[in-house]
Amino acid sequence: MEFLPFTRPDIDDETIAAVADVLRSGWLTTGPKCRELEAALSLRAGGRPVRLANSATAALEMALRIAGIQSGDEVITTSLSWVATSNVILAVGATPVFVDIDPTTRLIDLDLVDAVVTPRTRAIVPVDLAGFPVDRDRLYELAGRHRLRVIEDAAQSQGARWRGRELGSFGDLVAFSFHPNKNMTTGEGGCLVMNSEEEAGQFEKLRLQGVTRFADGTYDCDLLGGKANLTDIAAAIGLGQLRRLDQFNERRRELARQYFVRLAGLPLELPPSDFEHGNWHMFQVLLPAKLAEQRGELIRMMRERGIALGVHYPAIHRTSLYARQMSTLPHLPHTESVAARILTLPLFPAMHDSDIERVTATLTKVLGCLLSGKFDR
Ligand SMILES: *Cc1c(COP(=O)(O)O)cnc(C)c1O
Repeated sequence: MEFLPFTRPDIDDETIAAVADVLRSGWLTTGPKCRELEAALSLRAGGRPVRLANSATAALEMALRIAGIQSGDEVITTSLSWVATSNVILAVGATPVFVDIDPTTRLIDLDLVDAVVTPRTRAIVPVDLAGFPVDRDRLYELAGRHRLRVIEDAAQSQGARWRGRELGSFGDLVAFSFHPNKNMTTGEGGCLVMNSEEEAGQFEKLRLQGVTRFADGTYDCDLLGGKANLTDIAAAIGLGQLRRLDQFNERRRELARQYFVRLAGLPLELPPSDFEHGNWHMFQVLLPAKLAEQRGELIRMMRERGIALGVHYPAIHRTSLYARQMSTLPHLPHTESVAARILTLPLFPAMHDSDIERVTATLTKVLGCLLSGKFDR
């Protein structure tokens, strides 16, 4: 039986041909394909300026710089995320302040934010875990009240909507990722949606050595930029993927519906059955507390039976870099409980309905073994 990964990109022949065209064209780095992809992304973002980078991590770090976040500033975020979310906060010299999650949505609990705002708080970085948007109405009400910049870590939520409006088409700074695991990919890559051409100009400088080019062939360098531009090779992949994003997300929704039906009887906490806002980037279940210690064993047993599961994510504040930096460990009971029990089941558009049956049947068997203590392998 074929090994089932928890995710896999789906690249069509047309996209492969478009990549070959770029390779033959003689122009491989940032060029016409990047501009075309930026324009297409901007169209989806309601005409707001969008610029590409070689990762969402780079885009998020540049977003923090554009927002003026620096040493001495505090930035509120969640600890249940990929470490990139808070690594970029450290990278600009600021301090991440972790707020606990709501255990049902697994997203930052906005009710807890007021209590951690200090005179040094400058921004909030919400994360749409599994592609479920953090409540944008409450987020921007809160940000407005405390005068915070919002840098949306929408790395996982391409094509997701908040009350009918696509993410990126409103709000402050919004970063998407095009890593191969995300709902659309460029191989590696990301982008930032911004508020003005002025911010977009800053982004262009930051992503390429702080350089501004002039018509006479000369240039100036007036700030310390990095090297984070995307290639046209990658942008050609992205154009092929963006064309199919809605189709991909629709297929993910269908597969998620099948999981709800087939997992109903199992002792697992399912995600909120929200088919209005999210893009079903991941289908994540929680093990019962009594099986938390055996999560590794469960993953191993599933792998032996040809199915990969993921852990997204170990709590950031428990990793040694963060534990070392913090004078007191933050009190995040829901984050810790969920991080210890969460599992990502396979979900990607090219999956067959029969794959869902196979995952749920195998999971039923393996859970039965673990719960009864009987191992019949
Ligand atoms: C993937 C991801 C990132 C980083 O994206 P890259 O393109 O790999 O840099 C950041 N935050 C979250 C929540 C992610 O899932």
